[in-house]
Amino acid sequence: MRYYNLGDRSSWVDFSTAVIQGIAPDKTLYFPQYIPSFSQEVIDSLPHYNDHEIASLIIEQFVGDCLDELTVDQIAYKTLTFDFPLVPLETNLFCLELFNGPTLAFKDVGARFMAHTLSKLTNSRLNKKITVLAATSGDTGSAVASGFYNVENIDVVILYPKGKVSSIQKAQMTSLGGNIKTLEIEGTFDNCQEFVKRSFVDIEIKERLALTSANSINIARWLPQVIYYFIAYKQLPLSKHPIVCSVPSGNFGNLCAGILAMKMGLPIDHFIASCNINNSVINYLNTGEYQPIIPSKQTISNAMDVGDPSNFVRIKELYSIYGDSHKVFQQLKRDLSGYWYDDHQTRGAIQELYHQYRYIADPHGAVGYLGLKQFLNQYSFTTHFRGIFLETAHPIKFREVVEKEIDTQIPMPIRLSRTLSNRNNSSTSISSFDQLKDYLMSRY
Ligand SMILES: *Cc1c(COP(=O)(O)O)cnc(C)c1O
Repeated sequence: MRYYNLGDRSSWVDFSTAVIQGIAPDKTLYFPQYIPSFSQEVIDSLPHYNDHEIASLIIEQFVGDCLDELTVDQIAYKTLTFDFPLVPLETNLFCLELFNGPTLAFKDVGARFMAHTLSKLTNSRLNKKITVLAATSGDTGSAVASGFYNVENIDVVILYPKGKVSSIQKAQMTSLGGNIKTLEIEGTFDNCQEFVKRSFVDIEIKERLALTSANSINIARWLPQVIYYFIAYKQLPLSKHPIVCSVPSGNFGNLCAGILAMKMGLPIDHFIASCNINNSVINYLNTGEYQPIIPSKQTISNAMDVGDPSNFVRIKELYSIYGDSHKVFQQLKRDLSGYWYDDHQTRGAIQELYHQYRYIADPHGAVGYLGLKQFLNQYSFTTHFRGIFLETAHPIKFREVVEKEIDTQIPMPIRLSRTLSNRNNSSTSISSFDQLKDYLMSRY
């Protein structure tokens, strides 16, 4: 398996280069050379595999000669240290819980996989420590900090905007110490991102440090998300009803992984992109015209506040075999529907899930539920389909919003109360790029 970049389909790199670079030199995304596929026999036997075996089976397809079988198994074990339960709410209606990782959001899967993969790849390649530089508005930083904590050969520097991440997210990033450094930036998320971008093109920094980024366009964060769609399928009761899966989407990496799983032979029949008012992809699905929303708009499902999703080009690439943009659009519409909701509707869904099913959803999962319901309601709800919506974060992460709607306290998971009680929180304040540069140059 090799990877081409979307800017130049004729040049190839191996898995290792694509992971270490993150993004191609021309700033476009890497994409696998072909879509591996599993036979019906393998799909039918999925219930006999445990989660780690499923993970290894999938990862092996994507790494080429860069990692041997044993290493792939080790990475699978270190990535999946938690379960992905498929919770039935009623006959043919399920919620796939992806939030049981250490930072209570699905990004733990991609971050942990990337951390352990990068550590193995750099072990053999470089004699220099790698420094991961990441800007975050919250969830990415938490997952990256936790995923890379104590991972050999790697240092992590996370930039977050002062006063603009939740107290839970801040504690998750700053309480670890060790190889995880956090910098509090006087400014917005956009400033953080700009500092990261400038660091990557700064000649002196590049000379001193081996820098890489841990954002979601890295194939090592995108591809492992395929795994839990297979794990979900394994748990579904057998039935002839087609499967439809609703994915609360922001940067569209998660949904793109789901469609990839389907193209690999997993029998999911239809996907739903469920968004908040940052609805550029939904508008595309309705009109065929893509208009990014800049700047993005703030909502209560804030991890989906993305107005120009970077993985959308990958979804189109999955359909590029069908020909010109019109044919791509037609084929994509067969497999994918999309709906969007405002905060008022999202709050209503949190209430509805609680009163109807005693299920406490977070705002992102609630948007996923709304999309699934709207699709199914065209076909007398769950009589003809098995519907799954993804729950991407634990509701405690959005405690203020959720508790107000359900008028009940959400029990605190033990791993989170430990993080919050840790008083070793430390972070350095930075207000300019020069300060950041001094910090990076003096540390290494
Ligand atoms: C990041 C995130 C999303 C959006 O996922 P994408 O892959 O960017 O579409 C949804 N929900 C939560 C809780 C997230 O953290």
